[in-house]
Amino acid sequence: MSQALARLIERLSELPGIGIKSAERIARHILKSSPDDIRKLTDTILEACQRVHACKRCGNLTEEELCSICSNPARLKTEICVVEEAFDIPIIERAGVFKGVYHVLGGVLSPLQDVSADKLRIGDLLDRVDREEIHEIILATSATTEGEATAHYIARQLRGKGIRVTRIARGIPVGTDLGLADEVTISKALKGREDLNSGAQD
Ligand SMILES: [Zn+2]
Repeated sequence: MSQALARLIERLSELPGIGIKSAERIARHILKSSPDDIRKLTDTILEACQRVHACKRCGNLTEEELCSICSNPARLKTEICVVEEAFDIPIIERAGVFKGVYHVLGGVLSPLQDVSADKLRIGDLLDRVDREEIHEIILATSATTEGEATAHYIARQLRGKGIRVTRIARGIPVGTDLGLADEVTISKALKGREDLNSGAQD
C-alpha cells in the first residue's frame, strides 16, 4: 500500500467512531472522488473550524457573538440548563420541553484527567448568576461518577444565592452520556428533576 494512503487511513481511523474498516472505506471513497468534490469537503471542514466559535454568554457553538438561543427573546432567561458540551444542546432541544437558556461547562470535573473546577466554565456560570436574574439552574451533566460529582460541586457553589438548583432525574442509565439518550428519556429526565439544595444550610 502507498504510504500516503496508509497515512490517510491512519488519520481517518483517529476520528471518533471510525474503526480501521470504516477508515479504509472512506479512504477508498475519497480516492474515487473528483478533485472538485474533495476540495468542497476540505473547504467545508476549514470553513466550519474558522467560523464556529463559543457563544459569548453560554458557550454554545455559533457564528455570531451570541448563539441563536441566547438571542431568542422567546427563551426564558431566568432558567439555565447546565450541560457538559455544546453538542448536548441540540439533543435537549430535540426533546422540545426546555424553554430556558444554557450554559456549557466544557467537560466535567475529573481528578484522574487533571480537570479541576478552574478548567471548566464554572466561574462564568457563577458570574452569570450574579449578573443575570436567574430563578433556576438545572444541572444536566451526565449520570457518570464525574457528571454527578460536577453537579454536586456546582450545587454547593450556588448555595445561599437564593436560586433553585435542580438535577435532571436519573431516567438516563448510569454511565450513559446524554448523547445516547433518546428524546423521551430526556424529556422525562427534565420533568422529573429534583432539588439539590433544598434543606441544605445556607
Ligand atoms: Zn448562547
